[in-house]
Amino acid sequence: MSNCAIVGINWGDEGKGRMVDLLTEKFDVVVRFQGGGNAGHTVINDRGKFALHLLPSGIFRDGVVNILGNGVALDPENLWAEMKDIMDKGVEISPKNLKISNRASLLLPWHRELDGLEEQRLADKKYGSTKQGIAPFYSDKYQKKTILAGELFYPEEMKSHLANLLEWKNLTLTKVYGAKPYTMEDLEKWIGEYCEKIKPYVCDTAEFLAESEKSGKKILFEAQLGSLRDIDFGIYPYTTSSNTLAAYAPIGAGVPFMKINEVVGVVKAYSTCVGEGPFVCEMFGDEAETLRKEGAEYGAKTGRPRRVGPVDIVATRYGVELQGATDIALTKLDVLSYMDKIPVCTKYIVNGKETERFPFNTELDQAEPVIEYMDGWKCDISGIRNWEDLPKQAKDYVTYIEKNIGCRIKYVSVGAKREEIIIRNV
Ligand code: GDP
Ligand code: MG
Repeated sequence: MSNCAIVGINWGDEGKGRMVDLLTEKFDVVVRFQGGGNAGHTVINDRGKFALHLLPSGIFRDGVVNILGNGVALDPENLWAEMKDIMDKGVEISPKNLKISNRASLLLPWHRELDGLEEQRLADKKYGSTKQGIAPFYSDKYQKKTILAGELFYPEEMKSHLANLLEWKNLTLTKVYGAKPYTMEDLEKWIGEYCEKIKPYVCDTAEFLAESEKSGKKILFEAQLGSLRDIDFGIYPYTTSSNTLAAYAPIGAGVPFMKINEVVGVVKAYSTCVGEGPFVCEMFGDEAETLRKEGAEYGAKTGRPRRVGPVDIVATRYGVELQGATDIALTKLDVLSYMDKIPVCTKYIVNGKETERFPFNTELDQAEPVIEYMDGWKCDISGIRNWEDLPKQAKDYVTYIEKNIGCRIKYVSVGAKREEIIIRNV
């Protein structure tokens, strides 16, 4: 592998963190290129069990340099809390193994508050935000109303920039939402308590990456969320506010000229979706409850029960195409071991007609799933490490998905721990 992006194919929580943690063994640099601290990437390895939010999942490997690119929503307060938490668990973090782009925009104290206020205003029409301030942050970034991390090195200029933003944002806070205005003292406190802590990590990461590439270092791009949450191609407006696709990785990482050689798309062996929005293959009742329990499907960041369903061939094929995936990692196959018959959503019905294409957003609400069943294997597969040793029904299930989504499945994950993986010679 030379340069590689690891991305989510579905609605997120496919097990990207788990795959990045595994594959970083072969890489020198790991870059998070979009999204913010609303991610929950669970990693279980020899150092312990961790839920990462903004830190790249390569942070546990000695010698790997981890980068937060210009495309992320850099929340100094949450990032510092996460760094402290990870360091307290014995993982070393220093400017040597963590570098923050000087071109990353800062998520400001009012962004989180605005996120909550807007969800409250939307009431029963809410988008299902994690209330981490991501949507207000990205809107302000594109309105050019945030601060770049590199401005921390120019304190006087930064303060006058912040004073301008404060005046503008207080209009929205007070006049639109009737909330309390922020003061310059609030912002100075925020700078002192959080920004100063992350400042030693801020540098020109674009230059570092360009140099790394020139000297033959291997770079891994880590995405947050999944294809269907992409702002342009996902289930808008129930998306996130950034591009979750591999095509965006070079830009959000800080190396817009770079070509990505491999794209590993992570797909869960069944479907899950956190929050609101159309989820055509959704299961309900006891069937759903059992799958949720077996798969421990509760959000790493929010603890919210995830909505569950069978693997969705229509949505997954769409995700594979959007990502330009060259390989698939199919995760959590072990979770399905309890099922006699395994449901698969093979098509949708839209306007009374069967379709294999992922419909336009407006049609999603009335789309119905077509469910077919495959034989289960009904035995524990979590100890299996070779493809040949999997029961026939499990192999059939994997190859059925492979054939229908149009991309080879190279990795089959049968457990949450780093080594619980089957790597196929395909
Ligand atoms: P991410 O956001 O894509 O990184 O995924 P999450 O970490 O939010 O969700 C995946 C969950 O499944 C985590 O709790 C992982 O520890 C767990 N997990 C990952 N792969 C497997 C697997 O193959 N089998 C099982 N049983 N659990 C897995
Ligand atoms: Mg997650």
